[in-house]
Amino acid sequence: VERVRRVLTARGLWTERLAGTAPAQLLVAPFSSEIDAADLARVEGIAQVGVAPSSHPLVDAAPAVARVRDVEIGPGRPPVIAAGPCSVESETQIRAAAGRLAATGVKVLRGGAYKPRTAPYAFQGHGAPALSWLRRAADEHGLAVVTEALAPEDVPRVAEVADLIQIGSRNMHSTALLAAAGRVGRPILLKRGMAATIEEWLCAGEYCLLHGAPSVIYCERGVRGFDPCTRNLLDLGAVALLAGVRRLPVLVDPSHAAGRRDLIPALARAALAAGAAGLLIEVHDDPGRALSDGPQALHTEELRQCVSA
Ligand code: PEP
Ligand code: MN
Repeated sequence: VERVRRVLTARGLWTERLAGTAPAQLLVAPFSSEIDAADLARVEGIAQVGVAPSSHPLVDAAPAVARVRDVEIGPGRPPVIAAGPCSVESETQIRAAAGRLAATGVKVLRGGAYKPRTAPYAFQGHGAPALSWLRRAADEHGLAVVTEALAPEDVPRVAEVADLIQIGSRNMHSTALLAAAGRVGRPILLKRGMAATIEEWLCAGEYCLLHGAPSVIYCERGVRGFDPCTRNLLDLGAVALLAGVRRLPVLVDPSHAAGRRDLIPALARAALAAGAAGLLIEVHDDPGRALSDGPQALHTEELRQCVSA
């Protein structure tokens, strides 16, 4: 048994011998490398390999590359930039933003019409009219649209304009919303809950696929940390695991992760180095006047510098 354990360790599999089992049974630790069960069965001394059933088989079998309109997002594809204001504030604002962003190489226009604000008296978004402003602005420049659905009853309206439906961090655990978003058959941008484990995040992706979503793109936007110097703690380990090991499409949102614009370029580079297929960045033409999330928005010019760096 010890010889088999050594062979397995050399292949990156860490095992624990289950007490009182004969023949000996070994349990592979979750932080081990991913190895095919069929390969393992060929190791001398191993009689049988059992695989614990996965809670997210559709996610496990999903292709690495997702398609949003004509944009491919996933490992091995050129990095995709989705950018725009946190909230769609007016038709003029989003039209001007779309033009400038398209000229910067952005492929997907973001902007919230329904805003999940922590404080109930903060700006909640312009709702349905903002959806049409966003779509028209994107169409003028051949951009795809990503925008958030907050409630199951909003999903059909959001799906009329969105090429990619965003599920926000605060709603990652909302199974009714995940199912409703899945049912309209659009790809989904699934933001990680701010205290969600990777398994919980993947299970949320499974809900979307189970109910009909053609693909799910996972967006790491920082998890709750302990230090108020940054808004959240960007979990690049999760990015490397999902993108590199599990081969899933991952976008990183350095705006919500940092909560301050001076850190965005560095976090964006780190995200791509960790395997992210692209970035979701908040951009505003006058961050000081933004109705939401101004401190974490880049000026368009700063985005241009960030993209060309
Ligand atoms: C957003 O993208 O504007 C947003 C509200 O993000 P999150 O759900 O990650 O907080
Ligand atoms: Mn925001």
